[in-house]
Amino acid sequence: MASLVTKAFVMNSFPWKDRHRLLHLLTPDRGLITAMAPASESMKSKLRGVTNLFSLSEFTLTSRQSRFTVKDGSVIESFISISSDLDRLAAASHAAEIFSDVARNDEPQKEIFDLWAYTIYEISVSEDPVFIARMSSMRLMESIGLAPGLEACVYCRDPFRDYAGFSFREGGLLCAQDLGRFKEQSLTPLSKGALALLRHIKSAPLPRLYRFQASQSIRQEAACLVDRWLEEKMEKRYKRLTWLDQCPDFLSLGQEDDQGTKAPTEP
Ligand SMILES: [Zn+2]
Repeated sequence: MASLVTKAFVMNSFPWKDRHRLLHLLTPDRGLITAMAPASESMKSKLRGVTNLFSLSEFTLTSRQSRFTVKDGSVIESFISISSDLDRLAAASHAAEIFSDVARNDEPQKEIFDLWAYTIYEISVSEDPVFIARMSSMRLMESIGLAPGLEACVYCRDPFRDYAGFSFREGGLLCAQDLGRFKEQSLTPLSKGALALLRHIKSAPLPRLYRFQASQSIRQEAACLVDRWLEEKMEKRYKRLTWLDQCPDFLSLGQEDDQGTKAPTEP
């Protein structure tokens, strides 16, 4: 039986059989793994703390035929503020579902582990945790090469041409000159403020990723674009935030407010 010591975040935790728990753990080197924490439902179990949802712990795991069992563990950070706040809990659940979907299907990537670390911390302290969760999904798409083209027109690749809007079908910005080439029925307007914010999310170094200022209307616009992009790329509806707010109409957004927003502060 092999033994493994690793840091890991608890992405999901549920009861299993007789007072055990099954944990989905996001690890730096092995991606998402499932581990059984034996008898951890018991009040006396020393493993109780490390099975808490969204906590970060150092685990000692044993493995047999790629089945992991928690042998020991110590909590590094419990992110206790998340479980006592509905918005933070919804935000963390939404982001965890997306990160888990990606980590389950992709090669293990340290970058995804690091992005989750910055994201779950920010969700635990931010005044707008739901927005942080949404923006994390855009950065995640960038990490796995599925982000939209926001640096230049996706057709002519000329970064200096004025863009006319965002095309979900072409996967990014289209300039006014090339717009006619596509029988695009539904070009989505995209304000300069929302574009600057999304570019920041795609490219900022992780320690500065969530350091931006944006007005409410810019946030709304960016959030709706990201949600729809995510659903199209992942071919899945993520429903954990739907009770909080909904994107009204994708097509009517974006025109109204270029003012009142500071573009994200770039280094
Ligand atoms: Zn073009």
